Amino acid sequence: MSYCVNCGVELDASAKRCPLCATPVLNPNEIGKLSEAQAPFPVQKGQVEPVRRKDVGILLSMVTLAAAAVCVILNALVFREHMWSLAVLGSCAVLWMFLEPFVIRPGQSVYLSIFLDGAAIAFLLYMITFLSAGKEWFWELGIPLTVFVTVMAELLTFCLRRLPRSFLTVSLYSITAAGLLCTGIEILVDCYVTRAVSLSWSAVVLTVCGVLDIAFITMLSRRRLRNSIRKRLHF
Ligand SMILES: [Zn+2]
Repeated sequence: MSYCVNCGVELDASAKRCPLCATPVLNPNEIGKLSEAQAPFPVQKGQVEPVRRKDVGILLSMVTLAAAAVCVILNALVFREHMWSLAVLGSCAVLWMFLEPFVIRPGQSVYLSIFLDGAAIAFLLYMITFLSAGKEWFWELGIPLTVFVTVMAELLTFCLRRLPRSFLTVSLYSITAAGLLCTGIEILVDCYVTRAVSLSWSAVVLTVCGVLDIAFITMLSRRRLRNSIRKRLHF
C-alpha cells in the first residue's frame, strides 16, 4: 500500500500519478533503473575534466603578468617617487622563469632552463640598478656572480646527468661544487669590495669540502669499502 507524498491520499498500486493532486508517484527502488530523462534527479555522477598542465601554465602566466602590469600602472600613476615597479617586474620574470619548465614546458632541456633562470636573475638585478645610486655594482659584482653561479649549476647538472651516479659520486660532485661555489663567491665579492683577493670564510669551507672529497674518493676507489657502504645505505 502506498500514499501520495504530497496530499497523503491512498494510491492504487499501478498509479503513476496521484488522482487528487497529480503528484508523480515514484518507487525509490526503481529510480536507479529509470533513464536519464525519466529520473527526477541526475542518475550519473558529473565528471569534471582533470586540470591540464597547460591550464596551470596559463593561470601562472596570467597571474604573474597581471601582478607586473598592476605594479607598473600603480607606479606610473599613484606611487611615483621611485621606479620600484621595475624590481617587481624583475621578480615576476624570475618567478615565471623558475616555474616555467615544471608547468609549461616539462620537456625543455635542463641546461636551457638553468641558462634562462640565470638570465632572469640578471634581468632582475638590472632592474634594481634603476633604484640604486650607481650601476657599477651590477657590472662588477652582479653579472660576474650570476654568470659564475649559473655556470656552476650547469656543470653540476652535467656531472649529475652524465657521469656515473651513486650515493658516493653524487655526494662528491655536490660537495666539490659547494666548495668551489663558496670560494668563487668570496673571490668575486672581495674583488668588488677591496680590489684584492684574500680568502677567509670560504677557505674553511674549501678545507672541509676537500677533506670530505678525499674521503669520498678513497671510498670510491676501494671496492670493499664501496660495497660495504652501498650495503649499509641500501644502494
Ligand atoms: Zn496527492
